[in-house]
Amino acid sequence: IKRLDETVVNRIAAGEVIQRPANAVKEMIENCLDAGSTCITVSLKSGGLKLLQISDNGHGIRKEDMEIVCERFTTSKLKEFDDLKSIATFGFRGEALASISHVAHLTITTRTKDSKCAYKASYLDSKLKGAVRPTAGNIGTQITVEDLFYNVPTRRKAFKSASEEHQKIADVMTRFVYALHNSGKSFTLRKMDQDVSAGVSVRTQLGSTHVTNIGTLFGSNVGKEVIQVDHFDPQLHLKINGYVTNANCSIKRFLFLLFINNRLVECTVLKKALDSLYQTYLPKGGHPFVYLSLEMPANNLDVNVHPTKHEVHFLHEGTVVESVEKQVEAALLSCDSSRTFYMQV
Ligand code: ADP
Ligand code: MG
Repeated sequence: IKRLDETVVNRIAAGEVIQRPANAVKEMIENCLDAGSTCITVSLKSGGLKLLQISDNGHGIRKEDMEIVCERFTTSKLKEFDDLKSIATFGFRGEALASISHVAHLTITTRTKDSKCAYKASYLDSKLKGAVRPTAGNIGTQITVEDLFYNVPTRRKAFKSASEEHQKIADVMTRFVYALHNSGKSFTLRKMDQDVSAGVSVRTQLGSTHVTNIGTLFGSNVGKEVIQVDHFDPQLHLKINGYVTNANCSIKRFLFLLFINNRLVECTVLKKALDSLYQTYLPKGGHPFVYLSLEMPANNLDVNVHPTKHEVHFLHEGTVVESVEKQVEAALLSCDSSRTFYMQV
């Protein structure tokens, strides 16, 4: 038995956090949002495998932090284990940039509002490569990731189609995860390849509303049939907000976007409950669009279930699900008399 070299350990761990370009984008957009950004632009070449660049107008990184920013488990967001109970940022593990630097060439250009110029540095295997150099730049951060998985040939070969990766990024970044929930902020996805499909593939505007963005991102047939859900359950200290389609709109696949304390999460129990609720209102084979944002006391929620942070556990799941279902049904009943038209017997 031999102890693995630290670089090997890190590269293995990096493969878990960053499985494909879309994971890297997710992590980095979360960093942009954690930094208070309102404009986020993602530019891609070859579906992010060749180039992946994310620019934001957030608070930037201080020059003195640039040396350690890509080391594993360095974060500005968490200090004690107990802080996890009340964590309000997406990040807290300090792993994303470290992981990316183990499987790609990473360059950061950043400027804080107190700094007269921007600073630029490159990283390799968590470590600074060369010096931190002053450069021109706006307040905010630009992260450039080049040749993702250049040192993991088997992983790299597994990606057959750049356009599939591009689509995954479009889904993760703008359609599903961020652009809708963060309505009002601007998101742009730009394809930089030198071919006919180059150009902006998704864009939401600064100051746009949820309803506008539902139309932009999911189609006007969905956008014009949504109704608002807005309720506070004092017993559960649960805020329920969102938009759901009424009985006039029926789509082929259930589009369910659930955010709990601003994280996109899976909750199979709630999904099933809502789908079966809609069965009474929609024609056979039809499904709704449901976007819900739940807010509950942070200490009812365990976000540290998995490194990708996709899954969460929360207390009182049964009662929470019941309460949400009731509100969606109330919204459906209150909005529309034509629902009887579709009611199944
Ligand atoms: P985490 O988000 O878990 O803290 P990351 O590896 O994603 O870990 O990022 C490490 C640190 O780098 C963050 O804590 C933050 O201080 C800084 N950082 C990363 N991206 C940005 C950004 N876009 N704007 C400002 N700071 C950033
Ligand atoms: Mg992060």
